[in-house]
Amino acid sequence: MTTKSAAAAARATVYGYPRQGANRELKKAVEGYWKGRVTADALRETAAELRRTTWRQLAEAGVHEVPTGDFSYYDHVLDTSVMVGAVPARHRASFESDALDGYFAMARGTQDVAPLEMTKWFDTNYHYLVPELGPDTVFATDSAKQVAELKEALALDLSARPVLVGPVTYLLLAKPAPGVPADFEPLTLLDRLLPVYAEVLADLRAAGAQWVQLDEPALVQDRTPAELNAATRAYRELGALTDRPKLLVASYFDRLGDALPVLAKAPIDGLALDFTDAAAANLDDLAAAGGLPGKRLVAGVVNGRNIWINDLEKSLSTLGTLLGLADRVDVAASCSLLHVPIDAAAERDIDPQILRWLAFARQKTTEIVALAKGLSQGTDTIAAELAANRADLASRAGSAITHDPAVRARAAAVTDAEGRRSQPYAERSAAQRSHLKLPLLPTTTIGSFPQTTELRTARADLRAGRLDTAGYEERIRNEIREVVSFQEKTGLDVLVHGEPERNDMVQYFAEQLTGYLATQHGWVQSYGTRYVRPPVLAGDISRPEPMTVRWTSFANSLTDRPVKGMLTGPVTMLAWSFVRDDQPLGDTARQVALALRDEVNDLEAAGTSVIQVDEPALRETLPLRAADRPAYLDWATESFRLTTSGVRPDTQIHTHMCYAEFGDIVRAIDDLDADVISLEAARSHMQVARELAEHGYPREAGPGVYDIHSPRVPDAAEAAALLRKGLEAIPPQRLWVNPDCGLKTRGWPETRASLENLVTAARTVRGEL
Ligand code: GLN
Ligand code: ZN
Repeated sequence: MTTKSAAAAARATVYGYPRQGANRELKKAVEGYWKGRVTADALRETAAELRRTTWRQLAEAGVHEVPTGDFSYYDHVLDTSVMVGAVPARHRASFESDALDGYFAMARGTQDVAPLEMTKWFDTNYHYLVPELGPDTVFATDSAKQVAELKEALALDLSARPVLVGPVTYLLLAKPAPGVPADFEPLTLLDRLLPVYAEVLADLRAAGAQWVQLDEPALVQDRTPAELNAATRAYRELGALTDRPKLLVASYFDRLGDALPVLAKAPIDGLALDFTDAAAANLDDLAAAGGLPGKRLVAGVVNGRNIWINDLEKSLSTLGTLLGLADRVDVAASCSLLHVPIDAAAERDIDPQILRWLAFARQKTTEIVALAKGLSQGTDTIAAELAANRADLASRAGSAITHDPAVRARAAAVTDAEGRRSQPYAERSAAQRSHLKLPLLPTTTIGSFPQTTELRTARADLRAGRLDTAGYEERIRNEIREVVSFQEKTGLDVLVHGEPERNDMVQYFAEQLTGYLATQHGWVQSYGTRYVRPPVLAGDISRPEPMTVRWTSFANSLTDRPVKGMLTGPVTMLAWSFVRDDQPLGDTARQVALALRDEVNDLEAAGTSVIQVDEPALRETLPLRAADRPAYLDWATESFRLTTSGVRPDTQIHTHMCYAEFGDIVRAIDDLDADVISLEAARSHMQVARELAEHGYPREAGPGVYDIHSPRVPDAAEAAALLRKGLEAIPPQRLWVNPDCGLKTRGWPETRASLENLVTAARTVRGEL
């Protein structure tokens, strides 16, 4: 086929769309259903109306083929488990008596039955429910949801393409069910699973599907030859089916690498590839594989996970190159638009000039449509869009917001020495010991204390003008007084102020840093009905004034014990925000680090001897491919060191992370050069302590002895037993005693009891040394 006809066929499409509705109607309906205030029928009708609204909007914007089946009441991986009949045994009875309640029970658990485990969807902030499989799993086809949603879209006279999680990705995301040996590999179930997919495909075809999309993002990760073989087999079998729609296999979040030739050669009808900067290698790899002769290529040129406008001319040039490589080239976002908010036009508080740089799902859709039109009908047909885009990009590139000379000069002048503590760890450790005079097994907490209703109400009242700043701050001070006095009474050694002034550990700082934007409606789904509004790293970052010093100092003034200053680290600030796409991540991290460094130094100058810089996100932004990890860890650890290295040797730097397995980043954790680290460990029975020891980690560490994720109060004997376990791996001179994480989601009664037990446990075990 010639280049010209490939271009003429160019269509606009997306792989998925935010589910919540413009005013988070879905959240309200689902939570209303849980509370018994919304009937099942009303919930279904709300959901159907949201789907129709989305499809109509997409079609009106000019999208030629809308996605179906991407909608979910909770999570699309859980929907896939239902589709293939992989309902865990403990949920089966409830699922069979009421499918909707059984579905939510799998997602959230009930009083008696544990939910499925939840984990991050690749390197996004979306969380999915992990399928539980075992050698006894019997799959069974349930295509009802997919078929019904396809029919809804077809009833609107739209061209629609059902979207499924592909069989290989589904199995690679699964874990052994409870009771199944940990070395069971779900991928061994492929032969059993494929017939289910075959039935779903046949059902969808019977319902009118021309094309079906099978998402295989797991193939952008490093895969073993056996896993690639499984992919080959899966698509050979599905491709060989006679009663099937055309198959589009979609990849996103990174380059396909070794999986690209596998899919290019497979007897499928189309392939969707990510062509954003992070996956740019796909272009060369596709050419090297000989292109996709006879197949449809869907080109993800519009970034589906950031909130910036596209460079339309650059995308057109990529698309132009691709025309020579496939039979037909369509235009799409790089991934589902699930990961971006719905509509930038809803933002009222953002400077109109900056607003023009932003593209949420609706704006991205418009870009995709324009690109498809430019590609098929000639760039002169989108001359106005191109001119406006050029002007907006120029305004962004030339803006004083994105280019603050003072910030840039300072970042450029950072020296190696600035990024290192003035003395090596061993010497600092001795200095800190004589300065802080802490007992063996010192006790502390991770920072936050319960965020009570009173605190939340006070914040809401302040925002609404019902409470003035002075009144609000007095409440914060009262809370700090209580938290400090409780800790003194309980006998904790290193105190905290409790973070009562913080709404959120990233937003609190974002609001005070120049260059950061907040949105009013920029909600994205984190999991289920939980939505977050990540702030936007829009420009060069600077700190007009201290952010935390007065609260820490106030706490300090109330006690003779050390009060730990508390900051969110640069990597976590980036990970939980929308980041700039006009400079390397490491440059943004360095700017944030310099702003935080000033805060650290100011805390020290105000008399703070212990400062904690939280980096719970260090591991979650680890690149999907191992080859990309060293570069990431370089800038990540460098920015942490830059944040913390301006202090005296006798000032103790803590860091905190919350995940239970981190053997793969112990080296990086050591590179942070922090003096003390606290980690989540209670549920894994101190597994992290053993991992630290195995890797020869030389510093002080506090593996958590109190699981803060549940209201359960560990008794002193249990905490003491965990400490003794910790001591098997970490010597008493280096072991700290603390909970797994902050206490902001806990209530006061269990917090009080648990911390009293924790101190008792520390005293008991000290007595045994
Ligand atoms: N200092 C924070 C707190 O205690 C840490 C939170 C976190 O690790 N996510 O709440
Ligand atoms: Zn934590």
